[in-house]
Amino acid sequence: MSTMPNYTRLPVTFVKGEGAWLWDTQGKRYLDALSGIAVCGLGHAHPTVTTAICEQAGELLHTSNLYNIPNQQELAETLVQITKMERAFFCNSGAEANEAALKIARLYGHQQGYDKPTVIVTEGSFHGRTLATLTATGNPKVQQGFEPLVEGFVRVPYNDIEAIAKLSDNSKIVAVLVEPVIGEGGISIPADDYLVELRNLCDQNNWLLMLDEIQTGMGRTGKWFAFQHTNILPDVITLAKGLGNGVPIGSCLTRGKIADILQPGTHGSTFGGNPLACKAALAVINTIQQDNLLSRVQELSKRFKQGFENNLTDIGGVKEIRIKGLMIGIELEQACSQLVVKALEHNLLINVTAERVIRLLPPLILTNEQADEIISTVSNLVKEELG
Ligand SMILES: *Cc1c(COP(=O)(O)O)cnc(C)c1O
Repeated sequence: MSTMPNYTRLPVTFVKGEGAWLWDTQGKRYLDALSGIAVCGLGHAHPTVTTAICEQAGELLHTSNLYNIPNQQELAETLVQITKMERAFFCNSGAEANEAALKIARLYGHQQGYDKPTVIVTEGSFHGRTLATLTATGNPKVQQGFEPLVEGFVRVPYNDIEAIAKLSDNSKIVAVLVEPVIGEGGISIPADDYLVELRNLCDQNNWLLMLDEIQTGMGRTGKWFAFQHTNILPDVITLAKGLGNGVPIGSCLTRGKIADILQPGTHGSTFGGNPLACKAALAVINTIQQDNLLSRVQELSKRFKQGFENNLTDIGGVKEIRIKGLMIGIELEQACSQLVVKALEHNLLINVTAERVIRLLPPLILTNEQADEIISTVSNLVKEELG
């Protein structure tokens, strides 16, 4: 193997996909309940996305941000319209989107005269693997061995408004960075008013509210973005994963007083917002719109909730079932990472995160039959495991 050993790979090789199905080198078919970790929301080889990519590839792949890029302008306008934000910056991954957000927080802090601007982050969060974003991440395993970590963060428990309110007299703080629903950290859904309360605290203290919607965005929770379940607006949003359906693209959206804080020379990306990636993202957004996938996600979400609650509620050893849109977490009392291989043997792709949480992030284009198959296979595996 000439690749670095930083990934533990499952013993399967996929060569083709269509919708929620994947085929391996043996021609065996699998149901994908993970979507490449919340990336392929429209499933695999979606014809609209495929056509958009092929057409764009035949015209122009890349010119650089030295020049105007019409697809980038169009994508920025579209994102601004669906979020009510004002400006978009484009990069190539989630971590880079968060790096942009963190740089914005620091610029904003220095504008206010703070020489050590500090960002509040939460326990259990995941924000990426670059030095700043792994520092922001609330998981010691991600940080271990990479010290010295980046300065300028303070950590509080997730879903704990009081802990943040207590920081109000800390004069270094300039922003809060949180996931509206924690993804990698085990599908934690905060209280309904968490974001509203955060917005209030940020307003009172002149802090930026920065939402990491990298996993929760692009329809995953049944709205374009998870914050849209409330009527607040954040100051900064980061997105990536589902935005390009597999074409690498990330974005940082801003509004209000910091909308235009990234002036020429302050930030950039060679590949960011290139014609190809933006074309793919535009095709994704159009498809979600035209196929009414947001309401479909809400429908599917109810189906999963009902299905799993019917099958698993009274099973000893099942701690909690947590569902927001198509972010599904089934927490067991015990470690259960072996379920991933067992599911694979049943031709189903799932994930286990935070050691004890079965995580499902199925594509938004799932059929009812596919949803039912996921529910029954996962329920049976859980019962077997605990029985
Ligand atoms: C995946 C993820 C990231 C990191 O995205 P990369 O594209 O892997 O850099 C950041 N934040 C959240 C919430 C994520 O789920």
